[in-house]
Amino acid sequence: MEKKPLELSIIIPVFNEAENLPQLFENLQKVMQKINKSYEVIFVDDGSQDRGGQILKERCREDARLRVIVLRRNYGQTAALSAGFAAAAGRVIIPLDADLQNDPEDIPMLLKKIEEGYDLVSGWRKERKDPFWSRRLPSQIANWIISRISGVRLHDYGCTLKAYRREYIEQINLYGEMHRFLPIYASWSGARIIEVVVRHHERRAGKSKYGLSRTFKVLMDLITVKFLGRYATKPLYLFGAIGSFLLFLSVASAAGVLYQKIFLGVSMIQTPLLLLTVFFILLGVLLIMLGLIAELTVRTYHESQGKPIYSIRETLNFD
Ligand code: UDP
Ligand code: MG
Repeated sequence: MEKKPLELSIIIPVFNEAENLPQLFENLQKVMQKINKSYEVIFVDDGSQDRGGQILKERCREDARLRVIVLRRNYGQTAALSAGFAAAAGRVIIPLDADLQNDPEDIPMLLKKIEEGYDLVSGWRKERKDPFWSRRLPSQIANWIISRISGVRLHDYGCTLKAYRREYIEQINLYGEMHRFLPIYASWSGARIIEVVVRHHERRAGKSKYGLSRTFKVLMDLITVKFLGRYATKPLYLFGAIGSFLLFLSVASAAGVLYQKIFLGVSMIQTPLLLLTVFFILLGVLLIMLGLIAELTVRTYHESQGKPIYSIRETLNFD
């Protein structure tokens, strides 16, 4: 896959959206005419089993700025987006759903914010047109939790339509449902982030591929991301802290047993404290050991891949 520098890459994950594609092409064309920039649109066909793949290929034959990546099977939206990001040549990258729920008409507004100097412009589907109980409510709760826990205050992590300066997503590997955490990763590497309200439409054709179970996955991913962000280079700080706390508890409960034995004459097997002492010691030591193993893993991770523990915004007079 050849990459020549472009101003803009639009990335569209597609899974069984044949009914939506013709309208999508039309909407895109209308907007792209207005934008005076070099661009490419990368469609990632995520193992579609309908006519979608065929339609994409036909369109791309007519216009070299439209590109298609066909995945061998259905890997999920995050993986499809990753494939698009990896192939993207644009200085700015804008992902967008294929089902016409996001509106390409918002693209110029996102670009304007990037031009104003922001590194990441996060779309917010303020008037989201999805079912309330199965989608909007769980998503609102998840967004609230993510926002609190990550400290990156946004209303809508799940909205695909966002604009990124490429350097902020370039080196990030995505797993699970993690594309929605890109703003968090970006913020950790110092990105200037702004949130803007974007349009949202009801899904008119095709089916949503997701339901309630995704919210659970997203929250599990959040634990990973939070852990990696905070302790990726020093896991012993976390394991060690909990382990040390347990060791402290074991000392306290040992003192309790001895006190009861010596001063109150209570037999050691009459209280659960002796058992607790042993339990706390074991768990404390184990956790610290686990932390040391995690330290080894981290070193393997960073050193075998030459991954530095920092990222540089810019340099002067180095070349
Ligand atoms: N999608 C994908 N692979 C999948 C599921 C979905 O590429 O396994 C695409 C889908 O075609 C759409 C976007 O991801 O363009 C969002 O999917 P969907 O509309 O089903 O999610 P929702 O909007 O309901 O959250
Ligand atoms: Mg959708």
